[in-house]
Amino acid sequence: MFVYTLPEEVISKISAGEVIESPADCVKELVENALDASSSRIDVEMLKGGKRYICVRDNGTGIHREDVHKVVQRWTTSKIKDMSDLMSISSYGFRGEALYAISTVSKMIIKSRFFQDEIGIKMEVEGGKVINKQEIGMPVGTCVEVYDLFYNLPVRLKFLKKEDTERNKIIKLIKEYALSNWNVHFTLHSNGRKVLDLYPCEDKKERIEALFGCKFEEKSIEKNSINISLYTSLESSRGEIYLFVNSRPVHNKNLLEYIRKVVGYKKICVCYIDLPPYMVDVNVHPKKREVRIYKENIIKEMIKELFRRQEWYPFELAQERAYY
Ligand code: ADP
Ligand code: MG
Repeated sequence: MFVYTLPEEVISKISAGEVIESPADCVKELVENALDASSSRIDVEMLKGGKRYICVRDNGTGIHREDVHKVVQRWTTSKIKDMSDLMSISSYGFRGEALYAISTVSKMIIKSRFFQDEIGIKMEVEGGKVINKQEIGMPVGTCVEVYDLFYNLPVRLKFLKKEDTERNKIIKLIKEYALSNWNVHFTLHSNGRKVLDLYPCEDKKERIEALFGCKFEEKSIEKNSINISLYTSLESSRGEIYLFVNSRPVHNKNLLEYIRKVVGYKKICVCYIDLPPYMVDVNVHPKKREVRIYKENIIKEMIKELFRRQEWYPFELAQERAYY
């Protein structure tokens, strides 16, 4: 068999597909970028479940004018510089490939004004190629618009789910990021209609209760720089669980299953685990949904301990236990 070196165009599309599989993946990357830029307000809009159009606007630091063209190139990031930084990642992004990936499989418009600049810049990119760049007046911050995701990748387009399914994935995603960034104002519009308007909150509990519309109980534990806060709904419900490791929503099956067993299956549970960055490896997969936690058993022990404490039990149960 002959062996070929693939043309650059094919390589870029293959690798883009690893990071961006759906409109929700695209929204995730753009929202993470907005959060990394210290935004206090993030507005998201979508048309047709994000398949036709996605827009994420923020009031963060903005991108430096000289750097705008670089952000759609591969492995360009302002978040890490060298190997040592990789051991202490505190931002959502660091791989420098999201904007590159999205821009190769869509038509993208990036508008940004750096906080030290008087004027902003607008750049249009189509299928990874910059086709226009001009100065514009705009407030400090960044706005990224993505039109026709996968327009040049028919295979991927074919496998996208129905509009409603894609839309619901995006709603869930924004809720997740709102849960871990309770001091940020999030809005979400779908086909011109407001779906979410989450005002900044004082603390996690306020955001959780606003989002789910019921009261929650809070428990926390701290040991050796590991902090776990766990919130469970007081009312029974269909049972949902949200897990955050250093503010990142993660889907670690093992841990989720463990928490579910301990908390019970009929509560909404939101669990935040904060630990030193060197104890977490977020570089397991480009999407960073799975993270590897060093000594995960310690975390499990701490969760167990949280539930062993008497005050966790409802009053009557605690009394009953005291009696025996
Ligand atoms: P990463 O987030 O891994 O660095 P991205 O491709 O997502 O890679 O973004 C590349 C760079 O573009 C970022 O490192 C950041 O400097 C800049 N950037 C992207 N989005 C924003 C934003 N909303 N506000 C400010 N800077 C941004
Ligand atoms: Mg990013």
